[in-house]
Amino acid sequence: MNMCTDQVIGDILSSWRYDISSISPEMRTDYEEHLSSCAHCRGWQRIHRMVDVTLIGLTTLSTLVFLLALAVLHREPVRNWALIDFHLHQVSVILTIQAAAVVGLMVSLVAWVLVAIMTPAPVYLTGVAMAQARVLQGRLPEELRDRFPRNAA
Ligand SMILES: [Zn+2]
Repeated sequence: MNMCTDQVIGDILSSWRYDISSISPEMRTDYEEHLSSCAHCRGWQRIHRMVDVTLIGLTTLSTLVFLLALAVLHREPVRNWALIDFHLHQVSVILTIQAAAVVGLMVSLVAWVLVAIMTPAPVYLTGVAMAQARVLQGRLPEELRDRFPRNAA
């Protein structure tokens, strides 16, 4: 990748993980200008958004897998099979497959919420979805298009 054209702005953008979605529109213009003129920062911005989308995709997938596992276990007698059976100081701690799936689901949900809060993935995906909707709306025949509300942007 080539060098950044303005190292000062490049460093600021890099510390924000190239996410300017949380800055007010008036403040954003300089950074938007830099991103459109600097291939180095544009490339990094794309990589960071790809990581965000991958993270939210993986946590969503893992939540769905654990939900599916719980749905299957709910019907099967295997749910009470002990995965690990500890006997510590006369206290029996039994970790069943079902309990493991519940823990997995909780961990996945927490990870999903953290990714949604800490990365601009939701904003980015909403933007992509809106752009996609505009493209689809543009392809509709004129008489159908009038039935949908027009986008302000
Ligand atoms: Zn740059």
